[in-house]
Amino acid sequence: MFTKILIANRGEIACRIIKTAKRMGILTVAVYSDADQNALHVHMADEAIYLGGSPSRESYLVGEKVIAAAKKTGAQAIHPGYGFLSENADFCRACKQEDIIFIGPPVEAIEAMGSKSAAKNIMQKAQVPLVPGYHGEDQSRDIIKKAADDMGYPVLLKATAGGGGKGMRQIWHEDEFDEGLAAAKRESMSSFGDDTMLVEKYLTQPRHVEIQVFCDNHQNAVYLFERDCSVQRRHQKVIEEAPAFSMSETLRAQMGESAIKSAQAIGYQGAGTVEFLLDIDGSFYFMEMNTRLQVEHPVTEMISGQDLVEWQLRVAYGETLPKTQQQLTINGHAFEARIYAEDPSNDFLPATGRLNLLKTPIESKHVRIDTGVRQGDEVSVFYDPMIAKLIVWDESREKALQRLAKALREYRIEGVTTNIEFLYNLATTDAFINAEIDTGFIEKNNDAIF
Ligand code: ADP
Repeated sequence: MFTKILIANRGEIACRIIKTAKRMGILTVAVYSDADQNALHVHMADEAIYLGGSPSRESYLVGEKVIAAAKKTGAQAIHPGYGFLSENADFCRACKQEDIIFIGPPVEAIEAMGSKSAAKNIMQKAQVPLVPGYHGEDQSRDIIKKAADDMGYPVLLKATAGGGGKGMRQIWHEDEFDEGLAAAKRESMSSFGDDTMLVEKYLTQPRHVEIQVFCDNHQNAVYLFERDCSVQRRHQKVIEEAPAFSMSETLRAQMGESAIKSAQAIGYQGAGTVEFLLDIDGSFYFMEMNTRLQVEHPVTEMISGQDLVEWQLRVAYGETLPKTQQQLTINGHAFEARIYAEDPSNDFLPATGRLNLLKTPIESKHVRIDTGVRQGDEVSVFYDPMIAKLIVWDESREKALQRLAKALREYRIEGVTTNIEFLYNLATTDAFINAEIDTGFIEKNNDAIF
């Protein structure tokens, strides 16, 4: 096994990776910016290397500095976490050139999934089901419009370079097409410097169900079941759960097999997530593949009893997958709530300040907290304002949900505005308890939640 790795990230995910590395007897190197000099991840690691200024583009996004830090400390591999450099093909390539192992998929897989339309082309060839739509190279207005007219409204315009819900527009009627296309292109250009669009049939009540896959370098591939991430605000996940409610064994196996097919179509290695839309009639469609560890991976760990970071390290080192498909089983039910420094009463504007009081629920086999901050720490403007992930587990969905509500009640944070009350209200609505959930959940239950 590796003797030393560098973690090219900060916050909760850096801390979470360090924990597993420590348990496996691997030395860890943290990297940090000005704002993070005293951050928890720096404190937890065996060594820490300063990268630069607080804005990520001066520190966590500068691949050369990260690689120099790895060389200086003799780290054999780099774990990129999520965000920052995790899906950056150039960085992955640069690691390889310097003989440092990038703990993630091969560069070709990152590139193949980097564009939503290229990804759809590959999946079409691999016979993975796609949402009906047009994702061609001809970007003339008439071609895209005709595709939309032929499919029938509503349709969804998406930026092929998109991510984080940006560059997407629903079009409900033909009359709105031109205005919507212009707006989506503008947003895409300003966010991604590219305004290539694809158009899809807009499903009105789908669920977002994603499959965790894992592949090693010895032709083995497994799926670690699914996560339901339908509860979203502006296409961003709020509460995730595993397994998904009302999943038949047949559907689970079909989606799992499709996800493996998707991964194999691009020669995948390591941890990946294949995102699907699940329609009310039980049809499911490939949406995209994320070529990294996801924020919500802990719910999968809780129901499978596996440590996905350990799997990543083993696979990156060249070992075979720790378990076969037959050896993997689902045990109980888990939820994850993303605790953010933000103000739900002010359009969820990110909040900043000092965590004057931070009292968390006590951790146990039922409650897990992944965080990168301690009491007294500052939540700054520089990074994603997530304070912690609260993960709960119990034998059934009902019991796990009661654990979630109780743990949210026990959380005490002072000094920074948070979304805890909003999460509690959401988790205790009748519709959530009864699993009447699709991607429009928050909108539909607005009155009960706010
Ligand atoms: P991004 O990469 O920007 O996150 P995705 O393609 O992953 O964009 O889609 C984000 C979310 O948008 C999905 O989880 C789902 O809620 C919604 N969505 C995407 N495509 C469709 C569609 N064709 N019909 C309805 N909702 C969709």
